[in-house]
Amino acid sequence: MHLKDKVAIVTGSTRGIGKAIAEELVAHGAQVVISGRNVNTVAAVVETINNNGGTAFGIPADVRDSEDAKKLITKTVEQFGRIDVLVNNAGITRDNLIMRMSEEEWDEVIQTNLKGVYNCVRAAAKTFMKQRQGRIINITSVVGIMGNAGQVNYAASKAGIIGLTKSLARELSARNILVNAVAPGFIDTDMTAELSESARAGLLNSIPLKRLGTGKDVAGLVSFLASDEASYITGQVFNVDGGMVM
Ligand code: NDP
Repeated sequence: MHLKDKVAIVTGSTRGIGKAIAEELVAHGAQVVISGRNVNTVAAVVETINNNGGTAFGIPADVRDSEDAKKLITKTVEQFGRIDVLVNNAGITRDNLIMRMSEEEWDEVIQTNLKGVYNCVRAAAKTFMKQRQGRIINITSVVGIMGNAGQVNYAASKAGIIGLTKSLARELSARNILVNAVAPGFIDTDMTAELSESARAGLLNSIPLKRLGTGKDVAGLVSFLASDEASYITGQVFNVDGGMVM
């Protein structure tokens, strides 16, 4: 895949799916910006990639904060001169049944997962438009498509990302900026580590491939969507879920 020297920002790339995406992009020759809220974990991931012969640059940022999102973009352009790919991956869960879900749990998830995407896209749009090229890949979830009891906040945020992706794809297509979404199913990361054994067994039962996905499973598709080979694909949502939703 053609990603040599492309400049890619991956939000929430200090662990889990985002880290796997950053590593996969680097493996295909891209230069990546590692980001997350924690300065130390950002520095640690950057060090590992650079020690292994890749090119990574760290910019700590909280995607909930529009000023942080602007900094993420301006510092990337200062460092590399352009942005080819923006992967909006940062996301959280604050699960609860609707009767128990606090306003804080609702707001925190919407602010991070949905407003976070808006903040980063809004900050990067001018650079992409000036360049007359770019890729935006938003990480949604199968939960945004099928819903899930106990996750109204998360499902709403992820369904919101799908609407945002399609609208943005239409808005930016004239400037050759391609916008797609990737919807992982049940991926083995810190986010899913807290599930009880019985919940895990129940979920496995609903996955035709009978295994959890890995970050690398998601990263392969993201790398393809970032590459020159995917230049006629925009406004789409792709599931990476072992056949969970079909
Ligand atoms: P993890 O909890 O393992 O990692 C989340 C990453 O996002 C971390 O790097 C974290 O770093 C960062 N992050 C969290 N909040 C913010 C914020 N406000 N600003 C910037 N960075 C932030 O999650 P996963 O890897 O499992 O999930 C990654 C994405 O994939 C999420 O959008 C999630 O919704 C989605 N997804 C995951 C699935 C799964 O089964 N795991 C399934 C479907 C979708 P820090 O906390 O240091 O800021």
